[in-house]
Amino acid sequence: MICYDYINEYIRNTIKRNSGILKEMEEFAAENHVPIIQPEVARLITVLGRLKKPERILEVGTAIGYSTLILSEILQPGGKIDTIDRYELMLNLAKENIKRAGKEDVINVIAGEALDVLRCLDKEYDMIFLDAAKGQYLEFLPECLRMLKTGGLIISDNILYKGMVANDELVVRRKKTIVKRMRDYLDHICNCEQLDTSIIPIGDGVAVSYKL
Ligand code: SAH
Ligand code: MG
Repeated sequence: MICYDYINEYIRNTIKRNSGILKEMEEFAAENHVPIIQPEVARLITVLGRLKKPERILEVGTAIGYSTLILSEILQPGGKIDTIDRYELMLNLAKENIKRAGKEDVINVIAGEALDVLRCLDKEYDMIFLDAAKGQYLEFLPECLRMLKTGGLIISDNILYKGMVANDELVVRRKKTIVKRMRDYLDHICNCEQLDTSIIPIGDGVAVSYKL
């Protein structure tokens, strides 16, 4: 938690809860320590998506397909999602969940190392969700900017990384490099002429960037 516990708790108890397959996936993730997006982040993505009305979405970091299914709810009719992960075991679970949700026609799962896949993709997206390999967001950025339409959004998760990004005293030694890279990434997206960025301290920290 990067926010006061009582604030988080209040928000969680107040926002709309999921049911059915999403709820089952939340339980699975909790039991198996899969770091899916937190409920308040899911709601933020949903609201931004309702405003943006995306037809094409790119996700980096599929895991079990939880955020992918959240994204599929905001997708316009006829739209498509590409989602990337390098972990075969996770991707198999994701594919199963996507099939169970009846979304296999709109979600394209791509297996591979994120940076390699991004460099090979040559499509246009209305929304890009970054939720994998925190230390590499800055390397993903040129590829994202290349494929993101004007008026498109990049949503970056875990950008405050347990608060470490905002406070040196919290940084554990083995995370030093990731924290430094994340700070560089945030400096970049906040000062980039092509982007307007807001940093939001919910979940593990979310940045929302609008492409001008
Ligand atoms: N977005 C998901 C959670 C993703 S967890 C959700 O909220 O439901 C992060 C995922 O990123 C993991 O499944 C991990 O396998 C994947 N990942 C981490 N580094 C990666 C990399 N360099 N390339 C591709 N996938 C990566
Ligand atoms: Mg995350």
